[in-house]
Amino acid sequence: MLIAPPRFRTRTGHPESMCSSSPVQHRLWQWRARLGAVVGTTGLVLAATAGGLFQMLEAAMLDRYIQHRPLESPDPRLVLITIDNDDIEAAGEWPLSDQRLAVLLEQVRSQQPRVLGLHLYRDVPIPPGSDDLSEVLATTPNLIGMEKYIGQSVPPPPILQQLNQVGLADMVIDPDGVIRRGLVSVRGNDGRIRNSFAAALALMYLQAEQVPIEPQGSGSSRVQLGKTLIESLRQNDGGYAHIDDGGYQVILNYRGTRENFETVSMTQVLAGEIPDDLFRDRIAMIGLVTPTYQDHYNTPYSNRVRDRYTQMSSLLIHANLTSQLISAALDGRNMIRFPSPALEWIWVLSWASAGTVISWYWWQTSQFRNHKSPAWGLLIPYLGGLCLIPPLIGYVAFLNGCWVPVISPLSAALMASFWISIHQIHRLQKLATCDGLTQLANRRYFDLYLERLWFLSLRRQQPISLILCDVDYFKPYNDTYGHRQGDDCLQQIAQALTRSVRNGDVVARYGGEEFAIILPDTSLEDAMTVAQRMNDMVRHLQLGHKTSAVAPYVTLSCGVANLIPQPSNSPHELIETADYALYEAKEKGRNTCVLRQLPGPASSEY
Ligand code: GH3
Ligand code: MG
Ligand code: MG
Repeated sequence: MLIAPPRFRTRTGHPESMCSSSPVQHRLWQWRARLGAVVGTTGLVLAATAGGLFQMLEAAMLDRYIQHRPLESPDPRLVLITIDNDDIEAAGEWPLSDQRLAVLLEQVRSQQPRVLGLHLYRDVPIPPGSDDLSEVLATTPNLIGMEKYIGQSVPPPPILQQLNQVGLADMVIDPDGVIRRGLVSVRGNDGRIRNSFAAALALMYLQAEQVPIEPQGSGSSRVQLGKTLIESLRQNDGGYAHIDDGGYQVILNYRGTRENFETVSMTQVLAGEIPDDLFRDRIAMIGLVTPTYQDHYNTPYSNRVRDRYTQMSSLLIHANLTSQLISAALDGRNMIRFPSPALEWIWVLSWASAGTVISWYWWQTSQFRNHKSPAWGLLIPYLGGLCLIPPLIGYVAFLNGCWVPVISPLSAALMASFWISIHQIHRLQKLATCDGLTQLANRRYFDLYLERLWFLSLRRQQPISLILCDVDYFKPYNDTYGHRQGDDCLQQIAQALTRSVRNGDVVARYGGEEFAIILPDTSLEDAMTVAQRMNDMVRHLQLGHKTSAVAPYVTLSCGVANLIPQPSNSPHELIETADYALYEAKEKGRNTCVLRQLPGPASSEY
């Protein structure tokens, strides 16, 4: 493949050019590149965050934090009375008859728990013993039953509904099927606020402690509950984007799995095989824990493969939320908070800046480093180290009760670094093929381009023309006007040459004051026209040269060669022929062009 002719034809040292001659312009250009990386990546990442692109990754990070944090001790205020497969087998029935449930409730009630939670749907009587159960329900004012309210509803036991001793069993499930949020309350269609089962238990428990519940401000989204301010979740909080934030939700700050709760089985309670004071002044929650019966959900503790045995029963999820609310109110245990949107932007911006600065510094210093592996290979561990920092900060923040986005700052740092790296590779590539003084293609690029063009033209049997030009009496020019002005003169000549050629022609600096122009698919006549135009252009610059023997201003001598590549010849022959033509032009008195076509000795002058 033929590499495209370079865009070296800058006329005025454009700031974008890598060979820019003005240091101020070069600095400005560098700043623009870095600023572009920071602002561009920050904008992109914030847009992606708002679009929810990182939502599930952020949530997965939160899961990791929950899984790996130090284990907390069980909440001494809660005891779970669990019903699993063994209990059902021992009872020999499912669902439990009203009789059995009434006995169970009476047993628990006899120990005077502060709150009793019945986490079972009992909307219809299951005889025998329905009257007994109704009697127990009606005479236990500290009992909370449950109903399912949102979507497909399941009514509560009618008696408890009359007594207003009901909590909602509804769960808030994230888009990836994991429960990370807890529902505290919902405003029903009738305008009445309904507490969730967990919240109803917690509030009843806290009532006895006379914990104040004080709404903050006019809205009901901030409530001071004992020692802790509880804020309802909004749709873009933490790592979330546009979640359904209906009702009053909080992020579940799980206390743990089943091992983190004190439990006794229903069979043990019915058999009286429990300590006398087990439930006294505590919250006793009765419910199913067997995954054979639905009502199990994925939580941050669940195995990623989502096998049912690592799912959590809804009893335990509610127990976690109850414990969370009570612990927040009484112990000041953390609720999960979030940085404000402004802080989140600054956070992402900081990491985009870190990625930019580190990569920039890396690429700036890489040319001075003596390394064998490619710069990319060494940059990766460097960035890898950088990438560990946001998750670590995120973890520490989480331990202090704050869910800080981690994936978005990481993406910002990596994207900015990638941006800078692409930019720097492009810059290095250009530097390697660009002549610093004249901003033309350099000799290296000339050789590369001619070789590739050669093979292409050989296949297509197209002619190639080459013009070699040399400034006449340039040594005396330097001696007369000094090297600095000599450089200036070369730059002006370079610009004149680039103006003389057509698109697709390559003008290169061949040596000190020698230039080479490659003209693909160009006949001798056309090459002659270009060479003539170049000579005219340089003459018209009227660069004064009082020590030249041919004219009072700077002139060029050109050698033009043309051939159709054959397997028997090489680019080298084309260069030699042009060089020979240039020599002839010098011989003939300079300020002229000599043309030579291969094969054949014909030489002409114009
Ligand atoms: P001729 O007409 O035969 O070409 O005479 P000349 O004086 O140009 O001869 P020659 O090619 O030997 O001299 C080239 C001079 O170009 C010598 C060197 O000082 C000068 N030169 C080469 N590169 C640069 C450069 O980058 N800057 C400046 N100012 N001068 C350069
Ligand atoms: Mg010369
Ligand atoms: Mg020379």
